[in-house]
Amino acid sequence: MSDCLFCKIAAGEIPAIIVSRDAEFVVFRDINPQAPTHVLVIPLVHVASLNEATDRELLAGLLARARDAARELGLAERGYRVVVNTNAEAGQTVFHLHAHVLGGRGMRWPPG
Ligand code: 5GP
Ligand code: ZN
Repeated sequence: MSDCLFCKIAAGEIPAIIVSRDAEFVVFRDINPQAPTHVLVIPLVHVASLNEATDRELLAGLLARARDAARELGLAERGYRVVVNTNAEAGQTVFHLHAHVLGGRGMRWPPG
């Protein structure tokens, strides 16, 4: 989608600190990290939110990629959180499906 920030990051048109990429997903550092490690996992295809995600294989891949990223970033043993904010009340601000992977500090529950 031409005016989507994360599509532009996926295409390399807007710079980001890329952690890894493969044929389906890009993992990059969040510009405003909420934990010592905070990356975003996005599919290359444009999907606006979890509500619009009809491809179950894509969703399974997103979760697996988030898990792999946590492992690669050294978070797996200590623990980490995977978050998919969806629409207004959850605070979604970028309408290209993404999973946050947060770690490196203790997390509170319930989340704010
Ligand atoms: P949301 O609030 O939609 O779940 O998360 C969007 C995330 O994208 C936020 O954590 C925000 O800091 C991050 N973000 C917004 N603009 C940019 C950007 O231009 N580059 C990067 N790397 N992250 C961004
Ligand atoms: Zn997009």
